[in-house]
Amino acid sequence: MIGIMGGTFDPIHFGHLRSALEVCERLSLSQVRFIPCKVPPHRAQPMASPEDRLKMVALAVQNTPEFRLDDRELRREGASYSVDTLTSLCAEFDEPMILMLGADAFLGFNHWKNWRAILEMAHVVVSCRPGYKFPKLESWLKGRVVDNVEGFQSSRTGKLLFLEVTQLAISATDIRRQRLESLSARYLMPLEVADYIDKNNLYCHLFQKNKIPKEHKNTNIIDLEHHLVLNG
Ligand code: ATP
Ligand code: MG
Repeated sequence: MIGIMGGTFDPIHFGHLRSALEVCERLSLSQVRFIPCKVPPHRAQPMASPEDRLKMVALAVQNTPEFRLDDRELRREGASYSVDTLTSLCAEFDEPMILMLGADAFLGFNHWKNWRAILEMAHVVVSCRPGYKFPKLESWLKGRVVDNVEGFQSSRTGKLLFLEVTQLAISATDIRRQRLESLSARYLMPLEVADYIDKNNLYCHLFQKNKIPKEHKNTNIIDLEHHLVLNG
């Protein structure tokens, strides 16, 4: 089985890597493919360029044999829809696919393009923190929930598993916020990635070019990033 880990990875951090490793080991996946998205359809656009995000993922996965970088979404024009990515993966690989999502990403899952078709091509694993209260699921999804990893054996696709993994309270938004204040990203991600961010002045260049106006001191980071881009 192949794990599919999508995200903006702006930047990639230990929250992504640790949960991917735990899912990989618990499900005995042959590999986990990290797929940075080009144009996320459901959220604000990434701050770092596609090339920088790709490079950071490459650096992050280089020492884990099961982890692979997959740049297919960056090579594709237009919005990065998971259903298109899975179609392309299924055409390339014979193994069953496991789409890996964090609990926050899963909350919007039933608004994704052709989301039911995704479950015709893959199983879905939602990695959640121990004691996580499952969201109320519509009946179409509820009937697909399996209690454990063995539940994936009965069919090649279409099952949904909530798997408890060690949760690290790290978010890329927080890392970008810290960088805006010229703080280090070290120890929140592999050292090579933090060094790459430092060397290339990622995320803090906006701060150097633009002083954060007083009225924006408490502004949500996404709004602030937009303000800086628009006025930069
Ligand atoms: P941002 O803060 O910009 O939204 P992020 O840290 O949430 O970034 P994403 O690229 O949005 O990272 O997330 C990619 C995938 O990784 C999603 O499925 C998300 O749920 C999951 N994820 C993000 N942070 C963590 C974490 N700390 N632990 C486990 N999974 C995570
Ligand atoms: Mg996120």
